[in-house]
Amino acid sequence: MSTAVVLGASMGGLLAARALAGLHDEVVVLDRDALPPGPDHRRGVPQGRHFHTLLPRGVQALDAMFPGLSERLVEEGSPRADFAGAHLVLGGHEFARADVGVPAVQVPRPVLERAVRERVADLPGVEVRTGCEAVGLVSERGRVTGARVVRDGVERVLAADLVVDATGRGGRAATWLGALGHPAPVEERIEVDAAYVSRLVRLTEPFPDHLVLVGPAPARPTGFALAKHGGDRWMLTAVGVGGVHPPVDERGHLEFVRRAAPPSVFRAIESASPLTEPLLHRFPTSLRRRYERLRDFPLGLLVFGDALCSFNPIYGQGMTVAALEAEALRRCLRAGEGDLAGRFFRAAARIVDPVWLLNALGDLALPQVAGHRSPSTRLLNRYVARVQRAAAHDPRVARMFIRVTGLLDPPTALFRPDVAARVAVGRSRRA
Ligand SMILES: Cc1cc2nc3c(=O)[nH]c(=O)nc-3n(C[C@H](O)[C@H](O)[C@H](O)COP(=O)(O)OP(=O)(O)OC[C@H]3O[C@@H](n4cnc5c(N)ncnc54)[C@H](O)[C@@H]3O)c2cc1C
Repeated sequence: MSTAVVLGASMGGLLAARALAGLHDEVVVLDRDALPPGPDHRRGVPQGRHFHTLLPRGVQALDAMFPGLSERLVEEGSPRADFAGAHLVLGGHEFARADVGVPAVQVPRPVLERAVRERVADLPGVEVRTGCEAVGLVSERGRVTGARVVRDGVERVLAADLVVDATGRGGRAATWLGALGHPAPVEERIEVDAAYVSRLVRLTEPFPDHLVLVGPAPARPTGFALAKHGGDRWMLTAVGVGGVHPPVDERGHLEFVRRAAPPSVFRAIESASPLTEPLLHRFPTSLRRRYERLRDFPLGLLVFGDALCSFNPIYGQGMTVAALEAEALRRCLRAGEGDLAGRFFRAAARIVDPVWLLNALGDLALPQVAGHRSPSTRLLNRYVARVQRAAAHDPRVARMFIRVTGLLDPPTALFRPDVAARVAVGRSRRA
């Protein structure tokens, strides 16, 4: 009888459990929160109160793991979303409307997490336990053999053949490794100094799109998202990076949004009825832990999701990357036990690498974000700015940019000759 224990039952932990199901006799997913039966917010996922989107690649991956999931979410009231119905302003350019070919669902974060949790809990051999706080690991002869878990004030050891740390960016696997005599991984950071201030509103007039997304740009490191949440409820999230943070008071929040909003969009926002108070979430740094570089790592342990890499949320990638890591984990598990951690961390690094690179480019394009800009960073960012300019009038360039940032295609797709030619034509037209 083999047992896997997943620490953390947010999107990362649930997707890891999906990968483990059927390959271990028993999979226990535990969380220190009391997990709500409905699609409600909880303490361990404060980011769930802010705008969340599942990128097209994430929709594909989740539908493959949980057949019919996105259809079901639409039936239950989440709007079906495609990019032709999204008003995107990226790098200061309003993009031409483009359909990327993958139907998406604009689902509030607690609704998505609840739906995935229900599916995972229904898998044979999987059990989700609440109110259990992981406080450490136990090991024997260089192998992790379980987790130390506190429930109702009592600490017990939960024995396991495999422990997966999915406790988010605050995850303490690195510290726990130290206590067992192993080195901690190197950490890389990008000091994005970002903040979100979000509230739910009710739009009082019909609105043509399901999403308005205005990203930070070099001339103005602020933006916002206005996203349909079902019915006439919309999530309004103001965002600022490089220390330029949205105010939390009502007037200041509205004024901050006004500065970034197209006038027609702002008219709808201004006349909307607020449903909740503006709420702040700060995000000082993107953080990547390089577990794949460790030579001395115990058997029986993996680290997953935000605990491996926590991305700047403005690009909306965390859940999609967790889904891709789950696909990779299942492949690694199927290939056998040998060097499982090494193979999984290398596979996860191959998923994270291009995403981390894209983010670093996007962040460092903003003069307000601290960090070293190498000549190649500057060169690449000049090209990306041209792509965004061309995307304003060329739906095919817009489509490719959205496919790359939606993780459907690799960043190299932006340099394909057909795309580069269109970008060059756009440039000479303007000249
Ligand atoms: C403001 C914001 C907006 C975001 N927007 C998007 C978006 O649009 N799209 C997207 O894909 N991603 C987005 N993300 C990222 C996304 O939320 C995460 O990538 C995703 O939740 C997966 O993370 P995780 O499960 O690894 O960790 P988390 O979601 O942080 O979950 C960690 C879990 O572990 C539990 N836990 C913590 N410590 C312990 C312990 N000691 N014992 C037991 N349980 C514990 C917590 O209760 C929690 O349930 C955003 C993030 C932020 C901050």
